[in-house]
Amino acid sequence: MSFSLYVHIPYCQAKCPYCDFNSYGVQAWPEEEYVGALVAEISERAKTAPWAARRIKTIFFGGGTPSLFSPDSIGRVIETADHLYGLEPSAEITLEANPGTVTQAKLLGFKSAGVTRISFGAQSFNSATLKFLGRIHSADDTREAVRFAHRAGFECLNLDLIFAVPGQRVQDVRQDLARAAALGPDHISAYNLTFEEGTAFFSEMKRGRILPLPTDEQAGMYEAVRSELPRLGYPMYEISNYAPSGHEARHNLTYWRAEDYLGVGAGAHSCALDKAFCHGRRWWNQRLPARYIAEMYRNGIAEGGAELIEKTTLEQEFVFLNLRLRTGFELMEFERRFGTSFDARFGQVAGPLLQGGLLARERDRIFLTDRGLEIADSVLAEFVG
Ligand code: SF4
Repeated sequence: MSFSLYVHIPYCQAKCPYCDFNSYGVQAWPEEEYVGALVAEISERAKTAPWAARRIKTIFFGGGTPSLFSPDSIGRVIETADHLYGLEPSAEITLEANPGTVTQAKLLGFKSAGVTRISFGAQSFNSATLKFLGRIHSADDTREAVRFAHRAGFECLNLDLIFAVPGQRVQDVRQDLARAAALGPDHISAYNLTFEEGTAFFSEMKRGRILPLPTDEQAGMYEAVRSELPRLGYPMYEISNYAPSGHEARHNLTYWRAEDYLGVGAGAHSCALDKAFCHGRRWWNQRLPARYIAEMYRNGIAEGGAELIEKTTLEQEFVFLNLRLRTGFELMEFERRFGTSFDARFGQVAGPLLQGGLLARERDRIFLTDRGLEIADSVLAEFVG
């Protein structure tokens, strides 16, 4: 069975104050050494189970800001993966891009390097919101970047948006959604702003200098996103993701369907499952880019930690992740994987949620209802308790 490859590029031009990704604001980045380390890691993993002799169905260049790298660098990583594993003919190859970092030439270069899908971190089309979020780009940069991408021939194009930003009102969110849709992407992701520990926003919140929006206002905005995007032609297929059928982000479906994936680069996580789904192994690389590069060149591997995943945890994660999808999952699929029925394993947890109208069951599928979606985090948490 083919697998998904995640490639982490940790550098950004500036660190956004809300961002808790493994990313670093830098003026210059060691592109050649970093790509050399990525190539070495991809090559090393190709020698071992469970990746050896499997083809690749999706590659995702995430970050950080992968669009800071040259098309040649991105092309080198894609070629290495293709040479060592083989890309499926219809492989999806996504590159995350900051609208403030692309030119027409660069996007044409990414296209010829093999990238099939661009994901722009648009976040908002409102200058006050972009400023508050510390973004380096403007709404016009996003519009121009999308024009460049379309001219370069990218039919698969995602725009990321953030809502529930302090100072935003529901009508601002609606305006962002309309402006994003007017650019004609085939996919829109809309995330609720969160204040994660370790970020500048978190410290500001602790000091009382930033106040998150009240919970009911945030819920109202999520409700606006859920009703508005389908009206604009983007049905919801995952808690934060909207696209017409056939345009779903295939790489992310790997995560939501709890399949295994290989992650390379600083801080990247990987998850390998044994064939019988009896256990798994998760590991993560050294977070600091300099350390990742040094260890890759010295040892040919840069693992920073690892854990074994018990079957009970795999079962929980399967339910927790698959329920993020609008269509949930097939109960037979659970049984096929784990050799036990969903009812036997989770009947006691699911029963009250079904009775309370937070989960629904139709034929062989189980999924979150509209009410369940409103409080998805707490419903999903019931399965990992
Ligand atoms: S550009 Fe993206 S990855 Fe980089 S700091 Fe900002 S939000 Fe984080």
